[in-house]
Amino acid sequence: MKKNEIIELKIEDIGVNGEGIGKFEGCTFFVKNAVIGDRVKAVITRMKKEYGFAKAIEITEPSGCRIQAPCGLSSRCGGCQIMEMNYPEQLRFKERKVRMNLERIGGLKNVPMLPILGAKRQAEEPVPLAYRNKMQFPIGPGKNGGIAAGFYAGRTHYIIDTESCPAAPEAANRILQAVRAFMQEQDISPYDEKTGKGLVRHLFLRTGYYTGEILVVLVLNGESLNEGSYAQNVDIDRLFVDKIRSIPLENTGNHEENVNFHIAGICLNTNREQTNVILGKQTRCLYGQPFLFDEIRNRSTGERLCFKISVASFYQVNPRQAEKLYETALSFADLKGHETVWDLYCGIGTLSLFLARKAKAVKGVEIIPDAIRDAKENAERNGIGNAAFYCGPAEEIFPRYAGQKDHVPDAGDPLVVVLDPPRKGCDRALLEAIREVGPERIVYVSCDSATLARDLKILTGGGSSEGEESRAKQEAGKAVYQLEKIRPVDMFPNTVHCEAAALLTRR
Ligand code: SAH
Repeated sequence: MKKNEIIELKIEDIGVNGEGIGKFEGCTFFVKNAVIGDRVKAVITRMKKEYGFAKAIEITEPSGCRIQAPCGLSSRCGGCQIMEMNYPEQLRFKERKVRMNLERIGGLKNVPMLPILGAKRQAEEPVPLAYRNKMQFPIGPGKNGGIAAGFYAGRTHYIIDTESCPAAPEAANRILQAVRAFMQEQDISPYDEKTGKGLVRHLFLRTGYYTGEILVVLVLNGESLNEGSYAQNVDIDRLFVDKIRSIPLENTGNHEENVNFHIAGICLNTNREQTNVILGKQTRCLYGQPFLFDEIRNRSTGERLCFKISVASFYQVNPRQAEKLYETALSFADLKGHETVWDLYCGIGTLSLFLARKAKAVKGVEIIPDAIRDAKENAERNGIGNAAFYCGPAEEIFPRYAGQKDHVPDAGDPLVVVLDPPRKGCDRALLEAIREVGPERIVYVSCDSATLARDLKILTGGGSSEGEESRAKQEAGKAVYQLEKIRPVDMFPNTVHCEAAALLTRR
């Protein structure tokens, strides 16, 4: 078997990246654009000794779970990898993925998994759509000297020019179209990653689910749109504001809550670095405010908290599912009122403030200064006085403070740690420090079950690869945790990503 050869095979499984897996003449193939249950004709794209890669070119027998993707770009765009799978199958895939990672990477047996919390669909939707509150559209040179704005093709930096994205709310798509049209009208150059020349790099947008506020940020390789224009005596920045404010947004809001979207702020962000990082350090507000507000509700208690979100701060991208995730994390924390809780990787204090309502004291730690500023303001805005926030890496702040007099809970009061790291998971030093301090419970919220599994292996005491003797020495006095339960939450429908919350208790 070699490259470009055509094979026919049945897809028996799905890999962690959404690719179909099947066998041909005893050899395993990872097949792009195929769904579990499909029989396909595929062209071999790469051969290794033991396995190969292929791309489906014809679906000879479609799987029962295959659907027509509600997006013409789904097979090219890198965003929604499993949009051709019906929603129940997507959820089964995610449950299997989380379980498999915990077993294979975490070495855990009999994983105590609760069923995944799926996203609700509108009646007419085959899969959940328009769920994202944050969009980052790359902008670059298009065909024939034009502009391409939209999405990167899977695993590349090639920009597919896109009219609209079904994962985004309609308002975001209208803004994307208006930005492209404006650049054409004013002859403003897109940024070219290859040469580092050109002006406009990204359109960054956030929408408030409950407030309807929209924050529009145009990321420039410069400080002003005037830098990209030959026109004299015309303020292009001002024209940009007029253009964005004139976009019709009637009936684009959140129909469930009866809110209409409206522009709350328009900003220019400067990023002159040749880097994959989207936002630069400097943001200049042209109109309105350089932040937005949103609410998060706890649907089981009826509580509502209001949050200020600055441009550089993290905020969960799927607001309805985030509420389910937070509710799950809160119920796992099982607070009675006398606990001290460390909320590590706290962002703008979303979970921290819900935790604070039920605990004696909460200490949030976060590395982004703007997010910490937001968190402190958010505590005040919601009248919460028992939450303190610290800026810095969790792996430095927690070991430094957790053992200190002022931070140790009163005798008999329990300590609880909440973790919500980015995809790369927790620093090993933090996990060891947690085991030394020995909180009663750990709630680990994760957006990548592979790193979650790696970290759980350490927390459950199975993570040391040292020899027996030095291992015993190293382990002496450290707490060992047991995984009590884990609940996946589908935060990113149609993608291979899955969020999960896990509860660990000290043995
Ligand atoms: N719990 C928050 C944020 C979770 S995202 C929420 O639900 O909104 C993870 C956060 O960890 C981000 O805000 C990121 O800026 C922060 N972060 C990344 N590395 C960190 C580190 N080493 N120490 C502390 N925070 C970190």
